[in-house]
Amino acid sequence: MRVEIAGEPQRGDRPSEDFVAGSGDAFVLLDGCSSPVAMENGCEHGTAWFVRRLGVHLLARLVDRPDRTMAQCLSDAIAETASLHGARCDLGHPNTPAAMVVAARAHGASLQYLVLGDSQLVLDREGTYAVIGDNQPFPAGEGLRRQVHAAAHGSPERASLHMRYALAVRAARNTGHGPWVAAALPRAAEHAETGTAPLAELRAFAALTDGAARFVDRFDLGGWPDAMRLMDQRGPAELLRRVREAETSDPACARWPRGKAKDDATALYARTR
Ligand SMILES: [Zn+2]
Repeated sequence: MRVEIAGEPQRGDRPSEDFVAGSGDAFVLLDGCSSPVAMENGCEHGTAWFVRRLGVHLLARLVDRPDRTMAQCLSDAIAETASLHGARCDLGHPNTPAAMVVAARAHGASLQYLVLGDSQLVLDREGTYAVIGDNQPFPAGEGLRRQVHAAAHGSPERASLHMRYALAVRAARNTGHGPWVAAALPRAAEHAETGTAPLAELRAFAALTDGAARFVDRFDLGGWPDAMRLMDQRGPAELLRRVREAETSDPACARWPRGKAKDDATALYARTR
């Protein structure tokens, strides 16, 4: 496989909370869940640390353990990462660091994949596109999320609504009453969407964090066929450049209502032949 990767933090003065890595026939892409600055998380390491550790452990599992399913590999990696926090971190905290995950590996004649959360995997089956992901909706928080987007960007009202929304998600996630994310609970991996695709039928695939998928689903700069063609011809960095261009043209989130004016954005594009 031939793989191209591009990533860009939302701000130059903060580390990205996305993580992407590959081994040649296995790949991981993670998007750390950001939370309001004022919100405690019970962890002295932080989200950027968490996504890097979880990503590296998941990649190692994918490569070392072909006998384990994709979900089992994620479950194992969550447990390994949890053990690295040490006794001073409260892993039962509702805001413990967490991430969305896309993973894929070649396994015999197939590509095995896993997606948990709002990151996305796109399979190019000779010009027919399958989009997998964005699979942990939170319908109970949708009304509040819309209020956040409707409030004036940068206003105290928006900050207060955002905090309320973040608290509602944290209270529900990984409990069976809300979205499942990769945090400190290994069994969250059971809720990931998994599948296989014959490599012979696959021309390419891509993995994108929601900050990069904005190209299609927030800014409507094109559909998935356009996004895949762009990455094929000009690379994932060009897709991110166009996302940043759209974000910069709408700094107040007025034309395209959204939670963050800019987001960490990462994309991986792999040709299978
Ligand atoms: Zn910690």
